[in-house]
Amino acid sequence: MVTPVRKKPIAVIGGGISGITVALEAADTGADVVLVEKEPWLGGRVFMMHRYFPKLCSPLCGMEINFRRIRTNPKIRVITGAAVESVSGASGDFKIALNMAAELVNADCTSCGKCTAACPETRVDDFNMGMSETKAIYLRHPMAYPARYAIDAGVCKGTKCAKCADVCEYGAINLNAKVAAMTVEASGVVYATGWKPYDAARIGNLGFGKVKNVINNLMMERMASLSGPTAGKIVRPSDGKEVKNIAFVQCAGSRDENHLSYCSSVCCLASLKQATYLRELYPDSKATIFYIDIRTPGKYEAFYAKVAKDTSISFIKGKVAKVAEDAATGDVLVTAEDIFGGGKKSYRVDMLVLATGMEPNNAGNGFPLARDADGFIADWKLPPGIFATGVAKNPADVTTSLMDAAATAIKTFASGGGV
Ligand SMILES: Cc1cc2nc3c(=O)[nH]c(=O)nc-3n(C[C@H](O)[C@H](O)[C@H](O)COP(=O)(O)OP(=O)(O)OC[C@H]3O[C@@H](n4cnc5c(N)ncnc54)[C@H](O)[C@@H]3O)c2cc1C
Repeated sequence: MVTPVRKKPIAVIGGGISGITVALEAADTGADVVLVEKEPWLGGRVFMMHRYFPKLCSPLCGMEINFRRIRTNPKIRVITGAAVESVSGASGDFKIALNMAAELVNADCTSCGKCTAACPETRVDDFNMGMSETKAIYLRHPMAYPARYAIDAGVCKGTKCAKCADVCEYGAINLNAKVAAMTVEASGVVYATGWKPYDAARIGNLGFGKVKNVINNLMMERMASLSGPTAGKIVRPSDGKEVKNIAFVQCAGSRDENHLSYCSSVCCLASLKQATYLRELYPDSKATIFYIDIRTPGKYEAFYAKVAKDTSISFIKGKVAKVAEDAATGDVLVTAEDIFGGGKKSYRVDMLVLATGMEPNNAGNGFPLARDADGFIADWKLPPGIFATGVAKNPADVTTSLMDAAATAIKTFASGGGV
């Protein structure tokens, strides 16, 4: 085999599980890699999960191994807090313009946490889906990589306050740091920009944003997580009551021409998984899953069969027509058709979880990326030297994303970025 002559690194945009995998596999194959992430930390959405289906293990162990591999691989350069402004050039000679967030906390940070204790300002915690707050200087997650605090510049009072800088023994905080521009040169570019949850408030009849105890599936993941807003207790947002009777609405906005026309392929598995969170936490609880079709292809059928054995988990085939609130109790009142049981029926539950699908993230400005009808990057239409992987190009579970990312690393490497 003749390996391509490569004068420039491969640039991977997006530091979720797909981008991390491309970076590691390409570097192991021999390429230099620049991994660019817009957030202050790597990890993407899988860090929000309490457990992975089907094994129900924590995503943290796999991530820890990945971070160790990145840390010890000199061929990978990580740039966080960097939004891609534009990508120009051609295969073998791309220029990626980055908008760098101000480096208010530098690499001398030991994440001791004294700054957070001293900080008087708070912000809504987007990582916990708005269900809690952090200080203006914060660490997203105990296992965040790089293990370095970040400052929300929209909330921080800067040098007018400076309490965090005063207590930092390592001189790691510079509140005068400015945003900066940076250009990265690359032989090839991989977009691994991932997804965001579909906005459930747009589904008028399912009560999200109006009925207090209606949440979406990512909120459920955060609530079940020990590092989440309730330290792992699944409770109602309205009154903190333990949830003993829960329902899930499948295809919430999915396979619907008015919202997302496609199946996200993970939502049925996510609800099955989340039903086990509740059943394990409260053995006297019950769960009801309203579905159109349960989609658990291939090896995931065994997971479905295992969860369905639990007689406290019921499956009702039928669409949910209406969701309302009992103002006196905070209970959620669900009206749904029951195709096998016959007719329209009403149900009362403590909390309702909407199984919303995955929408592709905007892949960044400045490059006219071809997209399919649903907004995912159409990789078969991309110019030479540019590739896409993971949920940026197709809704998928982690295993599928990993396989695709490994294949993308090889394709990008083999193309030599056109050099
Ligand atoms: C409720 C729910 C539960 C799930 N549970 C499971 C499960 O148990 N098991 C399983 O296999 N799958 C599960 N999934 C699917 C899983 O979350 C995805 O397969 C996985 O997140 C895909 O990773 P990714 O790297 O492609 O995308 P992401 O995780 O979204 O990562 C993309 C990264 O790119 C960054 N980025 C975006 N735009 C830019 C830009 N312009 N510049 C720089 N960086 C950028 C983002 O900040 C992010 O870090 C679940 C999905 C849902 C909705």
